[in-house]
Amino acid sequence: MHAVDSKKAKPFLPFARPTIDETMVSAVADTLRSLWITSGPQVLAFEKALSEYHGGRPVRVFTSATAALEVALLVAGIGPGDEVIMPAQTFFSCANAIAHTGARPVFVDVDPITRNMDLAATEAAINPRTRALMPTHFAGLPMDMDALYELAGDTDLRVIEDAALAIGSQWQGRRIGSFGDIASFSFHPNKNMTTIEGGALVFADEAEAQLAERFRFHGIARNPDGTRDVTVLGGKYNLPDVNARLGLLQLARLDEFTARRQKLAARYFEQLQTDPPCTLPARGDAGHSWNFFAPLLPLDQLTLTRKQVMDALQAEGIGTGISYEAVHLTTQYRKLGYREGDFPHAEHIACTTLTLPLYPALEEADVDRVCQTLRAVLHAAKR
Ligand SMILES: *Cc1c(COP(=O)(O)O)cnc(C)c1O
Repeated sequence: MHAVDSKKAKPFLPFARPTIDETMVSAVADTLRSLWITSGPQVLAFEKALSEYHGGRPVRVFTSATAALEVALLVAGIGPGDEVIMPAQTFFSCANAIAHTGARPVFVDVDPITRNMDLAATEAAINPRTRALMPTHFAGLPMDMDALYELAGDTDLRVIEDAALAIGSQWQGRRIGSFGDIASFSFHPNKNMTTIEGGALVFADEAEAQLAERFRFHGIARNPDGTRDVTVLGGKYNLPDVNARLGLLQLARLDEFTARRQKLAARYFEQLQTDPPCTLPARGDAGHSWNFFAPLLPLDQLTLTRKQVMDALQAEGIGTGISYEAVHLTTQYRKLGYREGDFPHAEHIACTTLTLPLYPALEEADVDRVCQTLRAVLHAAKR
C-alpha cells in the first residue's frame, strides 16, 4: 500500500488556484435558475456586504479591476493632458487604464525591499500636470499609507489605490479600502477571492460612487418621467448577478483564506533556504494578505535562465508564474520613451522574480515539496 502510494504521480501544483466549495456551486446554480442572471439583487447584496467589510464606505462592483481602475480615473476627472504616477513594476492594466482615459502613465521605480512604489521617486516625478497617484499594494503588502496620504495631501493629488492583490490586507489594523481615497479590488481567480472575473471600487464619497455607477452602465441617468438620458461617456462594465452570488460566499470565507495564505507564507520563510540563496520577499506584518509569494532567483550565480528553472519545476509538477514584467519596457510603453536602465529596481525584480504556488487549499507538505525541489534545481545549477 505504501509502496503503491509512493509511486503515485505527485499532483500538479499550479501557482494560483481559487477555492470554490459546493455551497458556492449550488448558490450559483440557484441564481441561474432564478433567471435573473445579470446585474440585480445579488449585485446589490454583494455591494452591501463589501461595504460592511470596508467600514460602511460606498462600494460599486464591475466586470474587472481593470474596468474599475478606468472608471475610478474617469470619476476623478482625469483625461487628456493629465499625468498619473504608477510603479514601473505592476500589472499592465494600470498603465492601460490610465492611457485609455487619454492621460499619460508616468512610471517610477519601486522600493527594492517592499517592491511597492518608491515615494521619494514619486515625489520627484510630480509636476503641474500630475493629477493622481496609482500605487499597487504589491502581492498584498500595503503601501506605507501614512507616507502615501501625507504626500497626496501635501500635493493635492487624488489617490487611486490598485488593491487588486490586497482585499483583506490591513495597514496598522485598518483594512485597505476602509480609509483613504479610492481603492480598487480584483476578483480574478488568482486573487484573494473570486467572482470568476470582477472588480470593485470603494469610495470615500457617495456622490462619486453614483457617478461611477453611470460610467459603469452607458452613462445612463434616469429622468423623472421614466425616460433615460446619457450624461457622461459611459461603458458597459456591470457585474452579472451570477458572479455577485459567488462573490458573496467568497467574501464570507475571505478572512479564513487570508489566514491560510499567511500560514503558508510563513512556511515558505521557514523552508526556503537555497544555495545559492534567493532573495525572499519582505515579510511585512500581520496585515500582509500574501496574494503571492515570489522570491528573486540568484540568476547571476546560476548556469540556468529563469525559463529553464521554471521548466525544471514544471517537469516536477510545480507551476510558477512571473509577477510581473516591467511595464515601461513593454512595446506599448516604450513608445513613451522609456528604456532599459530607467528603473533599476523594477527591472531587477522583473528579470529575477518567480511566483511559487500559494493558495488556500495548498498544504504545508506541498510548500515543503516546492522548497525541496527548488533547492535541488538551484543547487545543481550553481556556478
Ligand atoms: C490582477 C491585477 C489587476 C487587474 O485585475 P483584473 O480584475 O484582472 O482586471 C490590476 N493590478 C494588479 C496588480 C493585478 O494583479
